[in-house]
Amino acid sequence: MLLREVSYARPATVDEAVSLLSEHDGARALAGGQTLLNVMKQRAASPDVLVDLGGLVELRTIAVSGSTLELGAMATLSSIIRSSEVEVTRPILAEVAATVADVQVRNRGTLGGNICVNDPTNHFPPLLVALGATMIVRDSGGERAIPAEEFFVGVFETAVREGDLLTRIDVPAGGKGTGDGMAGVTLGAHGTYIASAAASVSGVAWRVVLGCVAAVPVRATAVEERLSGDIDEQSVRAAVEGLGATLDPPSDVHASADYRRSLAGTSAVRAVLQASERAKG
Ligand SMILES: Cc1cc2nc3c(=O)[nH]c(=O)nc-3n(C[C@H](O)[C@H](O)[C@H](O)COP(=O)(O)OP(=O)(O)OC[C@H]3O[C@@H](n4cnc5c(N)ncnc54)[C@H](O)[C@@H]3O)c2cc1C
Repeated sequence: MLLREVSYARPATVDEAVSLLSEHDGARALAGGQTLLNVMKQRAASPDVLVDLGGLVELRTIAVSGSTLELGAMATLSSIIRSSEVEVTRPILAEVAATVADVQVRNRGTLGGNICVNDPTNHFPPLLVALGATMIVRDSGGERAIPAEEFFVGVFETAVREGDLLTRIDVPAGGKGTGDGMAGVTLGAHGTYIASAAASVSGVAWRVVLGCVAAVPVRATAVEERLSGDIDEQSVRAAVEGLGATLDPPSDVHASADYRRSLAGTSAVRAVLQASERAKG
């Protein structure tokens, strides 16, 4: 289906992009277009103005600043896969990006677009919560920093409001004693998740986050608290026991709620074991 008529702007600076987004009611940022153009074709979204971020080179930057990995919102999944900064500081981001869809989606799709969509089956929302990321958002009044746990608000809903531009995702750089893992069951080899879990450990502090069991990523804090001392398969299984009973996941054509509960537990065990192995160096 053809697109409905829509105005188009291609700002040359971030300031100009922020002005365009705040001045026009019904303006939407256009990143890689992998989701937005499809939902526009289906008439599920009808923005009046598309503000194309494609010319904003500074939003594509991937850099390390002190102990923070700074990922521009327009960094494509392919650029994350190729990035030496990511490889050195938080390689899980590249590993996960490499499992998303196909090369065309990875070449066009951006990290910012992936998380602004907040499709609960996407790869990055639970991972970024597990990594303790912070989202940097600009509007005409200035800049605000939003912890990943507060960024995801509902299905297809985030803390990015009309007039806002997500500019950067800050991820603490991993170091000695840090390890990350992600596991789950996807629809096909490179499909979206039916259930997922991301885990991260730094020293003895664990973060375990589940995807696809609610509208937003869910932190399994009870599991985190039980993970202490030597980690082996038996201790992780014990920590995850009873997790399913605390969840209220949806049922759909891909999985019943009970199956998702079971997959959430299995995914959490695998993600934690992977993170623990990697933390040993
Ligand atoms: C066939 C296919 C398969 C896919 N499979 C997977 C998968 O298995 N796992 C997965 O995680 N993802 C998957 N995706 C999603 C993909 O990875 C992209 O992340 C996603 O399509 C959105 O990224 P984009 O850059 O194209 O954003 P766009 O489509 O351009 O934008 C998406 C939304 O985010 C908003 N937005 C984008 N950037 C900003 C910004 N900087 N500030 C404010 N708002 C912004 C837009 O206004 C729009 O509402 C798939 C996509 C396709 C088309």
